[in-house]
Amino acid sequence: MKMRSINVVIALTAEQLEQLTSATAQILSAADPRRYMRQHARLWSNVSSALEAASGGKCWYCETARNRSNYGVDHFRPKSRVTECPQHPGYWWLAFDLSNFRLACTYCNERRVAETTAGGKAGHFPLLIEARRCMNPAGCIAQEQPILLDPLDPSDPPLLKFLMSGDVMPRMPQNIDAIAYRRARDSIEIFHLHEARLVRGRGDKIRLVSSLLQVVENLAEDVSIRRTIIRQIREMVDSTGEYSGAICDALSADIERFLAATADEAA
Ligand SMILES: [Zn+2]
Repeated sequence: MKMRSINVVIALTAEQLEQLTSATAQILSAADPRRYMRQHARLWSNVSSALEAASGGKCWYCETARNRSNYGVDHFRPKSRVTECPQHPGYWWLAFDLSNFRLACTYCNERRVAETTAGGKAGHFPLLIEARRCMNPAGCIAQEQPILLDPLDPSDPPLLKFLMSGDVMPRMPQNIDAIAYRRARDSIEIFHLHEARLVRGRGDKIRLVSSLLQVVENLAEDVSIRRTIIRQIREMVDSTGEYSGAICDALSADIERFLAATADEAA
């Protein structure tokens, strides 16, 4: 995650929207909701490119840019099972609900074991208070307090702290805010945000931007390449840039100073 929170402008066609709305209504009265879900799975996979467009092609959880594989639509509330609650049938009634869709790379979405870490969301959806879990469509999901940080909730991504090394950790110390600490810690584990390759890639980008910021600082205003570098940095820290949330967190003061100092030149 940057998780920087994703500015959700999901541009669905009128037809896609209508199909999702209609399926959300129909699954409630389906004789076999699971079968209905399986038969209509294309309705959510069809909108993955619209979700990709909203984030500039990067995974909403880990911010890795898509390379050669398509990213899938993750159901934030799992649609067919809940690891933390074995008797739960899954939030099948939200299978076609756009507000339950998140774009996820396979590393965030599927269980994987890496060099020294393991993670992947799969069926996980832990709650702070398990007794408040919504078990069926008659329940109220607003009563749930999810542990997983949600890239669509602007107050969630800042609970992660990124370091120059690319490492990620909870921002709030456990003794100051135990809930914020736990949500960040568990999200890092479940989304596998501490996986070694991801940490390396994130750290490389953070350090690259840091170096470029120093270059700009040392270049006179009339040097022609200055404008190019400024434009490049601005693209990298834009919300659609790969790891831009992590970069902006790790280098926040430097980037703020850069953006203010170069506003005229970038115009
Ligand atoms: Zn990811």
